[in-house]
Amino acid sequence: MIQEFGAEYAYDNHFEPCEPGEKDYVLHFRDRGCLTRVTHVGGSDADAGDSGEVIDLPRLADYPRRPSRVTYLFSLGEERLFLALDDSLPVPAGFSYESVNWLRHAEPQHLLFAAATASQLDRWYRENRFCGRCGHPTELAPSSREIVCPECARIVYPKICPGVIVAVVSLADDPADDRIVLTRYAGRTTALWALVAGFTEIGEPLEGTVRREVMEEVGLSVKGLRFYKSQPWSFTDTLMAGFWCEVDGADALRVDHSELKEARWFRRDEIPLERTSDRASLTGEMIERFRLYGRGAWGD
Ligand SMILES: [Zn+2]
Repeated sequence: MIQEFGAEYAYDNHFEPCEPGEKDYVLHFRDRGCLTRVTHVGGSDADAGDSGEVIDLPRLADYPRRPSRVTYLFSLGEERLFLALDDSLPVPAGFSYESVNWLRHAEPQHLLFAAATASQLDRWYRENRFCGRCGHPTELAPSSREIVCPECARIVYPKICPGVIVAVVSLADDPADDRIVLTRYAGRTTALWALVAGFTEIGEPLEGTVRREVMEEVGLSVKGLRFYKSQPWSFTDTLMAGFWCEVDGADALRVDHSELKEARWFRRDEIPLERTSDRASLTGEMIERFRLYGRGAWGD
């Protein structure tokens, strides 16, 4: 998944006030694009299995001038990353603004994670330039990751929205006939088969989100909820919690066509292979685990 990469790039989110050195990464975003240098590798040789896009992110030394507003983000192993909140920053040679969502297809994974996570913090900084209580311009707290209002002392913390990903399965007498519900969203250009998913509502526990979303999207009751893993999904300011559960009672799907294009039951051998190379998402991992291991997917 997106947060799973080499231990040499261990994520350390502890905030410390510091200034970037010439070799530190300084990320910059414009119109939801991340300043990136993209290199295409392979591809000319049909046997080359590793063709694709390799990305690098800008370091302080790459910029023609020093950014005016920079805050510390986090570190990945020995690498320190900062964020420039300087809208007039000139673009360094060889770099361009690339959609963070597009970067999901690129390597290396730790820099994809860095760009996605930094983009979430960049949105948070930009969307809280004024106090939501009194309207006064806000400031960055000097020694913590907080935005503060100097007028009314309001403190704003980074926005993280919980949500769930739900694999609903039906277990048969013969494990070869075990099935899983896959869904496809309506109105999206990249509509891969996915799992039931949705955001947690105010006052709702995660288990409640699971039961409500499954009922709303495909009209099923479920039982035997098992938490699997969670995943930060910075593209939508989300922390996703993945659950396995079994259909409880009637298994006829009643699809919510306002949200979904379609939904249906798949036996393991019917599951499309379109997710097998999806290394980033919890959805992809859960679908692939069920395809490979069936009811062993959620075992120890
Ligand atoms: Zn205020």
